[in-house]
Amino acid sequence: MIASVLPTYNRAPLAFVRGEGSWLFTEDGRRYLDLGAGIAVNALGHAAPELVAVLTAQAEKLWHVSNLYEIPAQKALADMLVEKTFGDTVFFTNSGTEAAELAIKMARKYWYESDPARVEIITFDGAFHGRSTGAISATPNSEKMVKGFGPLLPGFTQLPWGAMEALRGAVSETTAAIMIEPIQGEGGIRPVSDADMKALRALCDETGTLLIFDEVQCGVARSGKLFAHEWSGVTPDIMMVAKGIGGGFPLGAVVATQEAARGMVAGTHGSTYGGNPLGCAVGAKVLETVSDPAFLAQVREKAAAWRQSLEGLIAAHPDVFEEVRGEGLMLGLKCRKPNLDLVKAGYEVGLLTVAAADNVVRLLPALNISHADMAEAIALLDQAAQTLDAAQ
Ligand SMILES: *Cc1c(COP(=O)(O)O)cnc(C)c1O
Repeated sequence: MIASVLPTYNRAPLAFVRGEGSWLFTEDGRRYLDLGAGIAVNALGHAAPELVAVLTAQAEKLWHVSNLYEIPAQKALADMLVEKTFGDTVFFTNSGTEAAELAIKMARKYWYESDPARVEIITFDGAFHGRSTGAISATPNSEKMVKGFGPLLPGFTQLPWGAMEALRGAVSETTAAIMIEPIQGEGGIRPVSDADMKALRALCDETGTLLIFDEVQCGVARSGKLFAHEWSGVTPDIMMVAKGIGGGFPLGAVVATQEAARGMVAGTHGSTYGGNPLGCAVGAKVLETVSDPAFLAQVREKAAAWRQSLEGLIAAHPDVFEEVRGEGLMLGLKCRKPNLDLVKAGYEVGLLTVAAADNVVRLLPALNISHADMAEAIALLDQAAQTLDAAQ
């Protein structure tokens, strides 16, 4: 008989009942150091006191009113995002996949009046933009995501990762936009080089193509800058945000320039829950906290120290690890042994990591993880790697 919960997930046999900072606890009191942070969501750790305070204060006042009315908390968060980014305007969603939906719609609507043939969107192998029909259609080469779900939404071309020369040839008079993660998450923590980011922007400027950055995983201070594209100095026309922005509350956003958003007039898009007072109150606290220059500096400083320790770990286990890559506290350990074996060995020693494609294990800790917890993480990773060394 089918499970009462639709069995679409391969879950680890672990159930947590409580969290505190970078730690999660099971019913029987076992504790696990969390280097997954709910897949880059719990940006300030579990049960962050400042978020609990904001959430409970708002919960006692107003949860939801719908977008039929003004929502001051929504406008406040939008103002903050506009002030701190390239963007002029923001739409709030409840997830990353909903942000992908709007990014796709916005790019097509942009061309609808002036050049309606421009409907095609170019993406890259290894990309992940979500699981809605639109978002999976954006990655038609991913058999795992699209098989059996056709017919897919037409108008997407997925190019090999890093194929900048092919990209130049692929942009045509029907291209509406290029959509890319500045650092691929699910694809195995693969950063786009600064040179390629600049080439992308130049190509888009030359051809009028819209540039969409999916910062759902790499954004919100994860890379050590508020948004990962800031490392290259290049800005997009449209940006997708989710995961970390709500610190655990389901919240996403699409940030756009006034020009890119020109087609999105009243009545063209909507969401019942998107931008509700609860989510926006929490989001504002997260954004205020992580955009503080001192907070960003501590992310970069911890990331540099941690990366050095990870290099030491790799040197100590050359048969288990190949390299560390990524930016800030969005790091990936490329493995020589099966990545899932390392993730499972982690469970045995009380450590939570997340697998990604390309045989990578992701390390996505809370952005305020302590130096002591980082040192403990290295010790636990070392223990987990030893069990793989011993198994050969
Ligand atoms: C997680 C993710 C999404 C989808 O977000 P959901 O909130 O799961 O819908 C989209 N893009 C990227 C880069 C992601 O990491």
